[in-house]
Amino acid sequence: MTPHSGNVPAVPDDDDPAQRPFPTSICHGCAHLRLTGNKRGSIFLQCGEPSRPKYLPQPIVRCPVRRAIAEPTP
Ligand code: SF4
Repeated sequence: MTPHSGNVPAVPDDDDPAQRPFPTSICHGCAHLRLTGNKRGSIFLQCGEPSRPKYLPQPIVRCPVRRAIAEPTP
């Protein structure tokens, strides 16, 4: 495991942040987050924000360019 990935089930439930690597990372819930994976079942958190490196040491606790995904209104 690297600082950028975590071993999780081969088919994680993308709707459940608790099943993703680094569930405490503030990247979860950010519109710039992309989840990528490899054949060995590792899932990577990739940042799609152009001013940030694609792969940052996780878990991220502060980010000046975080853009929260709008929560659906009940
Ligand atoms: S913009 Fe910040 S919070 Fe959002 S995915 Fe990139 S590093 Fe994470």
